[in-house]
Amino acid sequence: MGAIERHEDLDKVLISQQEIKEAVVNMGQRITRDYAGRSPVFICILKGAVMFFTDLLRQVALPLMTDFMAISSYGNSTKTSGVVRILKDLDHDVLGKDVLVVEDIVDSGLTLSYIKKVLWERGARSVRLVTLLDKPQRRRVELEVDYVCFQIPNEFVVGYGLDYKEHYRNLPYVGVLHPRFYQEESDVPGL
Ligand code: 5GP
Repeated sequence: MGAIERHEDLDKVLISQQEIKEAVVNMGQRITRDYAGRSPVFICILKGAVMFFTDLLRQVALPLMTDFMAISSYGNSTKTSGVVRILKDLDHDVLGKDVLVVEDIVDSGLTLSYIKKVLWERGARSVRLVTLLDKPQRRRVELEVDYVCFQIPNEFVVGYGLDYKEHYRNLPYVGVLHPRFYQEESDVPGL
């Protein structure tokens, strides 16, 4: 399993370190082929996508640029309104650029559909979505996710950048947090 043994707060490990590594290499090669001859901008959605973003970019052989965006999900109200507040905006203009948005997990789809709309409005030439994890059963809006490493069932996962109340981001694998650690069910999407 790697340097860190299975964390005792987890119910199970869903995706091992090795599986993530292989998927990230494949994804990097695929994006390299698809964007040959172009210089895309990779946008990391902070903070959950950080591990995936930095590992993925090292597998992409293109003259790429990076930028970062942080958003607030407004807790449960986001689930109904679909409105996402931008806490940290991009440093650079995306006008005329080929943009790839890199996310940790797509759940309802509201976050990425909002970000995609904003980037189109700002005049990006193309916008594609890349995610490590996808929970397709939970989708609330129609959203085309162009690059998905893993489809997962409707369980709350942590690790490899994903947190529960800022913990567990450093686990090198993706695991299902044991339900006894949820303080309130409303804290956790999908439960
Ligand atoms: P969406 O807008 O697609 O509903 O939400 C995406 C966001 O919800 C993710 O960026 C993440 O912050 C959060 N999220 C959804 N499912 C999970 C999960 O299983 N684990 C964690 N840690 N966050 C999740």
